[in-house]
Amino acid sequence: MTTVIPLHAEAAAGCSTAPVLRERGQREVFCGLTGIVWLHRKIQDAFFLVVGSRTCAHLVQSAAGGMIFAEPRFATAIIDERDLAGLADAQEELDRVVTRLLERRPEIRTLFLVGSCPSEVIKLDLARAAQRLSQRFAPAVRLLNYSGSGIETTFTQGEDACLASLVPTLPPLAAGAAPGLVVVGALPDIVEDQFARLLADIGIAPVKFLPARHAAEMPAVGAGTRFLLAQPFLADTAKALEGRGARRIAAPFPLGIEGTTRWLEAAAAAFDIPASRVARVTEAARTRAGAALARQRPALQGKTVFFFPDSQLELPIARFLARELGMQVLEAGTPYLHREHLADELALLPAGTRLSEGQDVDRQLDRCRAQRPDITVCGLGLANPLEAEGLTTKWAIELVFTPIHGYEQAADLAELFARPLRRRELLSA
Ligand code: SF4
Repeated sequence: MTTVIPLHAEAAAGCSTAPVLRERGQREVFCGLTGIVWLHRKIQDAFFLVVGSRTCAHLVQSAAGGMIFAEPRFATAIIDERDLAGLADAQEELDRVVTRLLERRPEIRTLFLVGSCPSEVIKLDLARAAQRLSQRFAPAVRLLNYSGSGIETTFTQGEDACLASLVPTLPPLAAGAAPGLVVVGALPDIVEDQFARLLADIGIAPVKFLPARHAAEMPAVGAGTRFLLAQPFLADTAKALEGRGARRIAAPFPLGIEGTTRWLEAAAAAFDIPASRVARVTEAARTRAGAALARQRPALQGKTVFFFPDSQLELPIARFLARELGMQVLEAGTPYLHREHLADELALLPAGTRLSEGQDVDRQLDRCRAQRPDITVCGLGLANPLEAEGLTTKWAIELVFTPIHGYEQAADLAELFARPLRRRELLSA
């Protein structure tokens, strides 16, 4: 049986004005270095040099897992304990590492120096180093810097910091050029290709993506450029683009059939293209996705889900699970709640959903244990103990590593939740 999603039903107030539980206690999240795992795959002529400790090297390498077999496009320059007097040496050492790397890897066009937490690294002025080295290696290579430090960033904020560092380097819009649309947020190539086709068929042109796969293809921006966020964690990038005169198109995020349709409609409306055209262009994909979701629904309908704050994707995914699969969201926790960027998501979330921002991990664990959800979305550190207590968990990191955006991936996103529930049923049978 297929449930029809009322795309334009009044979203009532949803959670637009719902109270948000704000917690500022101990948190359990990955740091922004994690973003390197998907960003290095996306920007194919970039290299990520983490300036950090052995812990940072370990995190990036273990998170990147199997791909280290190929010659990787990331590395860690390990800065050992030094006193302040050693800082000049550290700069020289960084110059040496960068020079050696660029001699060995002439295909690199963008080199990101990625900062981390150790105090020796915080004392290093990476912005100045990037500037100095950019001058030395211009125009072949551009050096940029951002922080992936766990003190400043969570998990997906590393991508925001990386993209925000790219914005000042984007070329200006040529005089007389059509400003077009920029889709912002790293998407797997397969998803990017699907969106590029749909947007072209809808009649929007030119459409560019940030980040592009190669340095030479990065989009131009200027007054009149419209941009559409593909990810909900890009606050700094959006601000930087607005600083260059671009304007954000307000929309929910392209997760699930409803989110994707509304996202495309918002883009179309910004270019004066009617929703009827979007409906025509997307009909086949919506039908396919509807049939695929119908197969997942029996496993998920009526089940309860609890989100610990991790990827910042929690609200759009909670909206998808509630509205398209009939799940009940007990708590949607998010590390940061950007009210403006998430306004459409909040309006769509069923009224009464408990929202929390930030974390006080022990208190949140108490709430989770008291409610015993059918599935709990959390980080790796919490998953094992909760599983041991008989709760079924889903690792938040998988939501970022798996293609989940767009029509063709809607059922894959549902499957990520259905699979652990099936496994638990088998185990307890
Ligand atoms: Fe490195 Fe800090 Fe991340 Fe640990 S939290 S891996 S020290 S950047």
